[in-house]
Amino acid sequence: MRHILSKSTFLYGTQCLKRLYFNKFRRDLRLEVSEMQQAVFDRGTSVGQLARELFPGGTDASPETPFEYQKSVKLTKDLIDQGVKIIYEAAFQYQGVLAAVDILVKKNGKWKAYEVKSSTSVKDVNILDAALQYHVITKSEIELADIFIVHLNNEYVRKKNLVLEELFFMESVKDEAVDQQSFIKNKISELKLLIESKKEPKIGIGTHCFEPYSCEFMHHCWKHIPEPSVFSISGLRSNKKFELYENGILRFEDLTEEIVLNEYQSMQVECHLNGKTNIDSVSVRNFLKEFSYPLYFMDFETFQPAVPLYPKSKPYQQIAFQYSLHYKKSKSASLKHTEFLAPITGDPRIPFIEQLLEDTGSSGSILAYNVSFERSILESIARDFPKYKNEIEDRCERLIDLMPPFRKGWYYKPEMNGSYSIKQVLPAVVPEMNYDALEIADGGSASLAFEQLIYDKNADVDAIRKQLLAYCKMDTLAMVRLLEALEKI
Ligand code: SF4
Repeated sequence: MRHILSKSTFLYGTQCLKRLYFNKFRRDLRLEVSEMQQAVFDRGTSVGQLARELFPGGTDASPETPFEYQKSVKLTKDLIDQGVKIIYEAAFQYQGVLAAVDILVKKNGKWKAYEVKSSTSVKDVNILDAALQYHVITKSEIELADIFIVHLNNEYVRKKNLVLEELFFMESVKDEAVDQQSFIKNKISELKLLIESKKEPKIGIGTHCFEPYSCEFMHHCWKHIPEPSVFSISGLRSNKKFELYENGILRFEDLTEEIVLNEYQSMQVECHLNGKTNIDSVSVRNFLKEFSYPLYFMDFETFQPAVPLYPKSKPYQQIAFQYSLHYKKSKSASLKHTEFLAPITGDPRIPFIEQLLEDTGSSGSILAYNVSFERSILESIARDFPKYKNEIEDRCERLIDLMPPFRKGWYYKPEMNGSYSIKQVLPAVVPEMNYDALEIADGGSASLAFEQLIYDKNADVDAIRKQLLAYCKMDTLAMVRLLEALEKI
């Protein structure tokens, strides 16, 4: 008989009953999976495949499609009966609840379950996940001597070849899973009742819309929230925003004097209510005194392979593969541009840093937007390749952040909507410029595009490289125009 609840729907229901209801009965409302979410799923799948090599020679019980899990349940039972000792994607069902575990191993007569996660630590939701598996497996078929979460070790530094025993950590979560058994039993009953009733639960929006995962129905449940609203107030804690919302304070117009906001937040609200731009010309002028020519506008793009691809790198380490650099030799000199985009073979960090050091010369200020990112990339290259350390230190000393005038509200326009991201600031300050026409329009998409170049043999290399170059160039041109706007003040 087909299952009523799966591990995913159980977790949806634990996050929010309405999320479970919508997933069961209103899938038409579901937002399509974004490229970025798909990349996260794919990453999980490939890490899971790699972890199987920790227990080689197993039999795969995966279904051909997600609708054929009943076949997997039967196959798993048959494999256990036949004495198979290692089963991948072993599936079990108990009283309508389905759970599949990534790797099931029998050693010295005892079964152990291993659930693989592509994260670098065990989260509460992983324990809940394991507790549900423990419940279904032990009730339906076999005793479990232990259950583990297998996750990536973020301290692992790859040498030449991957060492899987060092790349992965295995943490037993059996005690926690056992502790949660009565919660699991009660929750399953509650969720089954909801599904049987087919009634939409009355649940409002809240922090549960983001925790532990961002919900795919937010566009539906949040459609009554205007723009701007208390949820747009920059830096206001999430629980405070919901407290205001619960008390009927939604729009900026609803805010009363008793509600304490900090200086930036008050300025943000005031600018919106009066439709005015905030300018702190003294702070802007002081900021502009900080830098010297030649002046560089620099932006990096990086990607973060879950499994380190190159020697001297860790799981999820930011690997720089591209930069754009606009520069002016003097205030009156014309604007020039240079750029770098790594080839897809080999470690991109070496050619990246060698050309960057050459392109940024030995003097002048180097502007970046949110400089801590560029600084951390440079420092990690200096750590991994000490021969560039001295020169990198010189570039780091010359870095200046272009973000503070916007982050601190020295130049604030209502169109920024409480954000100081360059994507939001640019069209507000320079209305004729935005990222809308670009195929790649944010850093996440740039990372995915570069990974596509590496892994996808059918990728349109020329087109993707052009899109990457156009995007990164736009970021530094945006910085040039933002600085000009500040100079006009
Ligand atoms: S958006 Fe929030 S309230 Fe709506 S289903 Fe998702 S978690 Fe529940």
